[in-house]
Amino acid sequence: DAGAAALELPPFDWSPPPYTGPSVDEILAKRREYLSPSLFHLYKNPLNIVDGRKQYLFDDKGRRYLDAFGGIATVCCGHCHPDVVAAIVDQTKRLQHSTVLYLNHAIADFAEALASKLPGNLKVVFFTNSGTEANELAILMARLYTGCHDIISLRNAYHGNAAGTMGATAQSIWKFNIVQSGVHHAVNPDPYRGVFGSDGEKYARDVQDIIEFGTSGNVAAFISEAIQGVGGIVELAPGYLPAVFKTIKKAGGLCISDEVQAGFARTGSHFWGFESHGVVPDIVTMAKGIGNGIPLGAVVTTPEIAEVMTRRSYFNTFGGNPVCTAAGLAVLRVLEKEKLQENALVVGSYLKDRLIELKDKHELIGDVRGKGMILGVELVTDRELKTPAKTEILHVMDQMRETGVLIGKGGYYGNVFRITPPLCFTKEDADFLVDAMDLALSRM
Ligand code: PLP
Repeated sequence: DAGAAALELPPFDWSPPPYTGPSVDEILAKRREYLSPSLFHLYKNPLNIVDGRKQYLFDDKGRRYLDAFGGIATVCCGHCHPDVVAAIVDQTKRLQHSTVLYLNHAIADFAEALASKLPGNLKVVFFTNSGTEANELAILMARLYTGCHDIISLRNAYHGNAAGTMGATAQSIWKFNIVQSGVHHAVNPDPYRGVFGSDGEKYARDVQDIIEFGTSGNVAAFISEAIQGVGGIVELAPGYLPAVFKTIKKAGGLCISDEVQAGFARTGSHFWGFESHGVVPDIVTMAKGIGNGIPLGAVVTTPEIAEVMTRRSYFNTFGGNPVCTAAGLAVLRVLEKEKLQENALVVGSYLKDRLIELKDKHELIGDVRGKGMILGVELVTDRELKTPAKTEILHVMDQMRETGVLIGKGGYYGNVFRITPPLCFTKEDADFLVDAMDLALSRM
């Protein structure tokens, strides 16, 4: 139609080779028959994405889309970045896998490079294959180190979906009815929906209360994201983390920062999300951006805490696979060489300002938040009551896809747009995204 036709993606000098694979219907039939049915209800009409370059994805017809979700915040350097591809190909040709019993420089080089990005004495790296595995290991280490079992996480958090991390995850849609022992969920310091607004110190008192009323007085750990991703890009109220870290330390516990979404330069102001809260955790977990989409995760901690893992034999078959770690090293180099953290800050701030302008125009936007290239736009049907616009968001999302923008959504009510694009996103892309959202909202 006229409005959508008037919007054009910024020019791009690459087009994919013709697609000769099976049709959408054929793939859908195989998916119905052979693939896990768990999220089918969310995307009834999925695109067949066959190519990716930089901040763009291409479907089987060669149509280009702006990828505003970035593979769920994984593709930080851009799709198929040539340096990352070359590192993977070179390493694949030499050695794909051996075992942790032998040496390989790709693993050691990446561990050293990763440690150099972290503050304090955070320098011992354990590699995993995912964020869930990283958080499982972090929780285990904290329990071993402190001799305590109790973990405190935040309501609305997402930390993974295995036995331990499902306990720490705190949204009913992601939880199954299994035993999830020893986890307490603190009041979420959510400035938009939380009972104490932006008063971080008041929320922090709930953690103290949990320790006093729900534990022996000692805890193993507190785990949180610096900005909740799956939870709907919730920035923690200012002052919250420093106050909670103090409380946890007094109770003998460790502080775990889950940097799976907020890490790897995404916030723009800092390399790690926790840095903007002025705290230094005892354990940092990471995945997603670490490998630009390659399955890789890591836990980084101090030598003293890492020691606990020598009490028994511990290993992870693929964790720190040389192909993945070669990719990880290339990612760190690309982030630096292309100044992607600076770009995340400049373009992300520009995008946020433009989204705030859009809020003035459209009543449906209740809140715009986040920093750098981890931004959220919460849709509500009533700004006073903050009634979640659960159905409306689906229409806006569909319309944006029609225009050529792929965007994520989340939050407890599923009414928050999550904008986590590759960090090479440009101002022109930001304009296109905002114009596409504007057009879609105007039609509501
Ligand atoms: N932690 C956070 C903050 C996440 O967003 C996720 C996944 O979305 C995880 C942990 C789990 O990571 P994975 O899906 O790689 O297991």
